[in-house]
Amino acid sequence: MFARITAHSLRRAGSILLLASVLSACSAVQSIDTPAENGASAVAQASAAPSASASAAAIAASSTQASVAPSAAESPVANTTDEQAIIASIQETLDLYAKAYNDNDPSLLAQVVDPKNGPMKRYVQTRFENYQESIFGGQGGFEYTVTEVEPHESGFIIATIERSGLQAKWTFREVNGRWLMSEPNEKQLGERQKVESEHFTFYMYPWTKDVNEKLMQQMDVAREQVLEKLGKVPDLKANVYIKPTFGVGAVTSPNTLAFYDRNSRAGDRIVIAAPNSYVFPFYDASAGWEGDLQTTLTHEYTHLVNNRSFTPISRMSDWMVEGLAEYVSDPTSARSRGVPAAVASDQIIPIMDTSGQVNKQDLEHLTILEQDVGLAYGFAFTLVEFINDKHGGMDGFWKLVQSYDQKQNLPAAIQEAYGISYEQFDQEWRAWLEENYG
Ligand SMILES: [Zn+2]
Repeated sequence: MFARITAHSLRRAGSILLLASVLSACSAVQSIDTPAENGASAVAQASAAPSASASAAAIAASSTQASVAPSAAESPVANTTDEQAIIASIQETLDLYAKAYNDNDPSLLAQVVDPKNGPMKRYVQTRFENYQESIFGGQGGFEYTVTEVEPHESGFIIATIERSGLQAKWTFREVNGRWLMSEPNEKQLGERQKVESEHFTFYMYPWTKDVNEKLMQQMDVAREQVLEKLGKVPDLKANVYIKPTFGVGAVTSPNTLAFYDRNSRAGDRIVIAAPNSYVFPFYDASAGWEGDLQTTLTHEYTHLVNNRSFTPISRMSDWMVEGLAEYVSDPTSARSRGVPAAVASDQIIPIMDTSGQVNKQDLEHLTILEQDVGLAYGFAFTLVEFINDKHGGMDGFWKLVQSYDQKQNLPAAIQEAYGISYEQFDQEWRAWLEENYG
C-alpha cells in the first residue's frame, strides 16, 4: 500500500530546467518550481509548542475514518458539483495566477485567492513580490494545468497541478461560484492529535490523514538510515510536527519540505510540510512527493542525531553539519548539486576564504552564503566523503569535530586530529576532488 521510496532527485530536474534553486537554512529544501522565492530561508521561528491534545487519538483511528466528500449541503455554493465544471473553474483560476506572473500584474492575485483567507492572501502576495524582485523576476513562461481533482473535507478540493513536467497538490474552495486558492482554517483542520510511535511523538491533524501514516513510516526509514551510517541515535523520542497549511504552525518559506528546529519552545523537533499544502514544492510526478521528502527527512533527522547524540551543532563548522547530513541522506549529493562542473571549471568553493573580505564566501560560512548555496552543500558533502575515504572513516570525521569543538579553529583542529596543516589538508582534498569528480 505504500509508494516506493526512491531518492529521485528533483535537484537534477531543477538544474535541467534552470529554475531557481534555493536552500533553506539548515534544511535540504530546494525550490525547483517557479514562481519561487529567491534568497528565501526557512524561518524556524519559535512557534506554538506542541500541546498534548487528543493524546488518546491513535493513528489507526485517523487513518480508517473515511474521507468525507463535500456534499451539496456542506458547500456554500454548490452549483458546480460536476467534476468537469470544477476542473474548468480551477483552470481559470490558475490561468489568471500565471498571467499575474507573466504580466507582472499583482492586481490579478486578488481574483485568484479566497478573500476570506488572510494567511493565504499574504502567502500569495509575498511570494509574488519576492519572485518579481528576484533575478528570475519578469521572465514569464508560467503555465499551470490542473489534471485531477479530489474532494476533501469542509468543501475543499485537492487539485493535482502540473507545471513543466512537475507536479503539486493545491487546495481550492468555492467562493461565489468560482474555485479559488485557499487552505482550511485551524478549525477546519480538526483537532490536533498527539500520536506516539516507538521512536517518535507525532503532532498531526485529521486534515492530513491521507498522508500521516506514510510520513510516520518515512521517519522510521530516516531513523534506520541514520542509525546505519552513524551507529547510534538518541534513546529519547523525537518530536515530529506535521504542518498542515501555510497559515498554521511554524512560519515557513515557500518550497519547504521539512526542517530541523532545534530552538522550539518545547525542545527540538522536526517539522514536515504536508505534501498537499502550498509551501510544499513541486515534485517529479513519476517519483511522487515521497522521493525527495525521504532524502530531506533523513537529512533533517541526521541534524537531530548529530545535535543530541554527538556534538552540539552550534559548536561545529557549517560544512561539517550540512556535509554530514548530505553524506548520510544522499549519496548523489555532489553530482546532483553540480560539483563535477565546478571542479572542471576550477570554481571550487574554498573551505576557508582567506581573501580578507568581510562576507566570507566559503564552506565555513555555508548557511549564510550569498550565492551557490546548493553547490556549497555538494562541496560540504565531498569534504565528509573525503575524510571518510582518507582520514579514518566516520571515526576520523568525529575526531576532527571533537578537536574543532574544543578549539573553534579549523587549522588547529586539523593539525590536532590528522597531524597535518590546513594547507596540506586543502591540497589533498582538491587532488581527491580532481580524481573523483574532475
Ligand atoms: Zn541541513
